[in-house]
Amino acid sequence: MLIYDLDLASLENLLEEWNEPAYRAKQVWQGLYQHLYNSPEQFTNLSKSLREKLAEHVTFSPFIVKVYQDSSDRYTRKTLFELPDKNLIEAVLMRYGDPADNPQITASPTGRGAKNRRTLCISTQAGCAMGCVFCATGQMGFKRHLSSGEIVAQVMYYARMLKEKNESVTNIVLMGMGEPFHNYDNTMAAIDRLNGADGFNFGARRFTISTVGLVPQIRRFADEKRQVNLAISLHAADDESRVSMLPINKKYKINEVLDACRYYVEQTHRRITFEWALINGVNDTPEVAKKLAMRLKGLMCHVNAIPLNPTTGYTGQATSRERAAAFKESLEQAGIPCTIRMRRGIDIQAGCGQLAGSVVS
Ligand code: SAH
Ligand code: SF4
Repeated sequence: MLIYDLDLASLENLLEEWNEPAYRAKQVWQGLYQHLYNSPEQFTNLSKSLREKLAEHVTFSPFIVKVYQDSSDRYTRKTLFELPDKNLIEAVLMRYGDPADNPQITASPTGRGAKNRRTLCISTQAGCAMGCVFCATGQMGFKRHLSSGEIVAQVMYYARMLKEKNESVTNIVLMGMGEPFHNYDNTMAAIDRLNGADGFNFGARRFTISTVGLVPQIRRFADEKRQVNLAISLHAADDESRVSMLPINKKYKINEVLDACRYYVEQTHRRITFEWALINGVNDTPEVAKKLAMRLKGLMCHVNAIPLNPTTGYTGQATSRERAAAFKESLEQAGIPCTIRMRRGIDIQAGCGQLAGSVVS
């Protein structure tokens, strides 16, 4: 049993079964999420017998580190984890800010203030069933959903690493391997656990969920009125182009996705982000930008564009800096705010799924 799979109530039940006093559950919870303990011996405030029970019945890590890589500028660390069933998942730490150390590092994934951010990009599935053609994870296919604890454990791994340097995670983006809304319940349970009071206490507004555009789940998410940021992978301004990149567009057309987005903004009064991988000659022209601006008119939104990260399974190439700037310019002239994101960690294959893909092959 993975300890991060338990919410506080389940932990209470477990300890009750073990005939422990009720307050013990809170101590374990705080040990896990405040002190970031990851082995029973560290829980020195618990009785020896309880520590032994923990050692016997629960695990504190669902994976081993298979490979890790730092980018040459040392601002990005990518880790490939191997799960007990040999599936591989990736999580990436991106450091932003520290202008004194590295004046080039100022971009931020959400386009907002970038000072001293420690952003984690984590996975929600091993592989992905959505098959987006330019995505390394999509190219490898679906393996399985991650449990809530397997999602949480990626965060705890990096939180411990940062703690050694007196640093902490400031933002979490669910943009690693997998489609979070295809694994909705486990993803939300993981967010709730990390958000938990007296525990990790990570503010809902500091999470960003990215979805390929699963309409029913966007509406459900809107109804739940969570404070979590939402990003939609749009990448195209008409169905013909979008379906050629994102097969899910056969099922959910752009209009339906955008209707769900309007519903989300109405329900939550939160701005929505659209992600756009700029592909040379495919979706980076001023005409496409104008078409996109027309579709997004009146919607409280922001476009996050990033030059495509080339993958072996797709022939498309990244947009040039000039074309990216022109795309942004056309959108903004039409009143749609746009940020061009820098590609981070290209040299460590930090595009989602790329490291796992290369290790598998
Ligand atoms: N499944 C979710 C979240 C994971 S992918 C989703 O699709 O939104 C996170 C983001 O990376 C998405 O916007 C996705 O479209 C984008 N992406 C995937 N492969 C990419 C690549 N090769 N280059 C640039 N962006 C990519
Ligand atoms: Fe899955 Fe997202 Fe990759 Fe599409 S882009 S295949 S939804 S991980």
